[in-house]
Amino acid sequence: MNNSKTKDSYFIGIFEKYNFRFLITDCSNSVSEAVNRHNMKESSAILVSKAMLGAFFLAGLVKDEMTVSIQLEGNGEMERVMTYSNRTGKMRGMAKYPNVVADAGDLTLGIGTGVLRITRWGGIQKLHQSITALSSSNFEDNLLNYLWDSEQLVSFLSMDVRENQENVFSSGIILQALPETEASLIEMLQEKIQSIDSTTAELFLGGARSALKRIETVLGSEAKILEEGSPEFYCGCSVEKIKNVVSSMGKEEALDILNERGSIEMTCEFCREVYKLDPEEVNMLFL
Ligand SMILES: [Zn+2]
Repeated sequence: MNNSKTKDSYFIGIFEKYNFRFLITDCSNSVSEAVNRHNMKESSAILVSKAMLGAFFLAGLVKDEMTVSIQLEGNGEMERVMTYSNRTGKMRGMAKYPNVVADAGDLTLGIGTGVLRITRWGGIQKLHQSITALSSSNFEDNLLNYLWDSEQLVSFLSMDVRENQENVFSSGIILQALPETEASLIEMLQEKIQSIDSTTAELFLGGARSALKRIETVLGSEAKILEEGSPEFYCGCSVEKIKNVVSSMGKEEALDILNERGSIEMTCEFCREVYKLDPEEVNMLFL
């Protein structure tokens, strides 16, 4: 059972003593919403949850407003996972096959031989896309490889993602060295975080704020919090966008469907929201 008492939260800030920025979050409710809307289970649910958290890590550590998409694609049973987040943790995610059980020893995460594709948009303009081959059975390692290859920034991250019946626990932290951070500071921070003697799951038992307190103690440094908020499940679909799709079908096709079914129903592939347009609404589109 998800601890529904705990609201999703995130904190973005800096450990000034180490010259590291961080993002720490518990986004269990937001991720569970995506998992439940798509009826995802098993490996599919876990991988989508991690990729949602990963997209938030990438979007949240950048100063400018940005949307990040993480896609995993390959020839395995799951075929494709797509997730999105903006820098305040408005996130969504899906898997092409939502009920895949990858073997424990599966080195491909259920994705098969495949790639990690990361796209960053600032505003409406696509800024940057990068594609790297999946090289580890561990999603976090693939993400760290990407960060190192693309930005040459030292990062440490830890995720606690677990499925429990209808809900998913999803929390984690990413720490990233700011440019020009001295190697000695990086080493010192690494040593301290490795000395934490509890699992990530234990660390996040009381939510993101208490996990942060614990990390402050371990690092012997107070976090300077620059931003805090609540992640949420979010899909940008709307009845207006659905109307645009119907308009672009053309009058003839739209009226054919209307004659056959009495209304036009469309399901958003990202959030499974069903939109129903009645005859009057459809006719209005073609006046
Ligand atoms: Zn939607």
